[in-house]
Amino acid sequence: MRVVALTFHDIIEDDKAAPAHGDAFYHLRVHEMEALLSRLHKHGYRTVSSKAFRAWQQGSGTLPERPVVFTFDDGYASHLDQAASLLIRYRFTGTFFVTPEQIGRPGYLTWDQLKKLVFLGMEIGSHGLTHKRLTELTREALDHELTESKRVLEERLGIPIQSIAAPGGFWNSTVAESTKMAGYDAFWVSTMGMNGNETNPFALRRVVVRSPREIDRIVSMVEGQPSAFWWAGSQQALIRLIKRILGVYWYEKLKRRVVPNA
Ligand SMILES: [Zn+2]
Repeated sequence: MRVVALTFHDIIEDDKAAPAHGDAFYHLRVHEMEALLSRLHKHGYRTVSSKAFRAWQQGSGTLPERPVVFTFDDGYASHLDQAASLLIRYRFTGTFFVTPEQIGRPGYLTWDQLKKLVFLGMEIGSHGLTHKRLTELTREALDHELTESKRVLEERLGIPIQSIAAPGGFWNSTVAESTKMAGYDAFWVSTMGMNGNETNPFALRRVVVRSPREIDRIVSMVEGQPSAFWWAGSQQALIRLIKRILGVYWYEKLKRRVVPNA
C-alpha cells in the first residue's frame, strides 16, 4: 500500500482578493479545493490522519482501501472558515500543523478556533514555534522550536501533539533526528512522493497543492500514477536547482516567474 499526503495552505474565498498575509504562491481557491475533494470522494478515497497512518506503519492499525492524508500548514483562519466545512461535507478529516507564535494574528486561527478543529475530530501537529527554517538554527534553538511548540500546544489544547511538519519544507537528517528526540512520532516534509510501510517516519513525503496546478494531475498523483509523479518530480528538481543556484532569497523573489506551474 502506498499513501499520498497532500499539503494545503491558505484557502481563499472565490469572490475575495487574496489576503496580504501568507505566501500567495501557495493559495488555493475554495472552488478548487471543493473540486478536488469531490473528485477524491467520488473515487472512493477516505482520509487518514498522521496518527492513523503511523499506527498502520507500526502494525497497530489498518488503512481504508483507498487512503489519502490531508495536511494543512501554517494555521490560517481559513482552515476553520473554509476548509473544515468542506472536509466535513465529504466526511474527510485533516491534520493541521500550526505555529504557536502565529496563533491569534490577523488571518490566522485563534486558540478558540483551534479548539473547534480538535472538537471536529481534526488532528493538530506542530509547525515549529516561530516558523523559522529549522536547518538554519543552532542546536539549542532547534531543540527549543521543537520542544516548546509541542509543550505549548499540548498545554493549551489538552491533547497529545505527536506530529510535526517542517516550516518552509527546510530539513536535513539532524533536524529529522531532533524531532524524534523531542518526542514526535512523525515528521512530515515536502519531498515529492508516496509513503509506504517502510518509509522513514521522520521524512514522510507530501505533495503540495496550489492554485495553478490542475486538479486532474493531483488526482493522478493520489492514484499513484508514475507519470504524474515524474512530471511533478521534474518540477521539484528544477526548483531545487534554482534554489541552489540563486539562493533562497532570490528563489522566493522569482519563483512565480520561473516555475509558474510547479
Ligand atoms: Zn509553513
